Amino acid sequence: MPIDATQPYDDDNIFAKILRGEIPSTRVYEDEWAYAFEDIAPQAAVHTLVIPKGKYVSWDDFSQRASDAEIAGFVRAVGKVARDKGLVEPGYRLLANLGRHGGQEVPHLHVHVFGGEPLGRMIA
Ligand code: ADP
Repeated sequence: MPIDATQPYDDDNIFAKILRGEIPSTRVYEDEWAYAFEDIAPQAAVHTLVIPKGKYVSWDDFSQRASDAEIAGFVRAVGKVARDKGLVEPGYRLLANLGRHGGQEVPHLHVHVFGGEPLGRMIA
């Protein structure tokens, strides 16, 4: 079920549990600002999720409340994950679903990194 992106942050959401190590995940990258792990149901040859370590429901929440340092750290982490996966050439796709119309299912901001093969026009 897509979420209401204006809802308050839920400490029991599945990505919060992954950040706390309560649910296993396949770690790809981690730093002070971000954690990256493999999507459990990949929709492309590469399908990695990058999440901020802070408690943000959505892109909207993050862009409003996060500090400049958090935003810079997160954006750089997304770029690094894609670069380290060798995706810069021939290219990749970033996606952040938001709320009901965007089809966001997990109420902790996550950026999908898709690549490793030619991508169709619509994904995730
Ligand atoms: P959608 O499921 O419609 O793509 P989202 O943009 O909210 O909605 O994406 C949530 C993503 O999280 C999905 O790609 C899903 O496969 C992934 N996911 C859900 N649970 C886990 C988990 N435990 N570990 C890794 N990825 C997960």
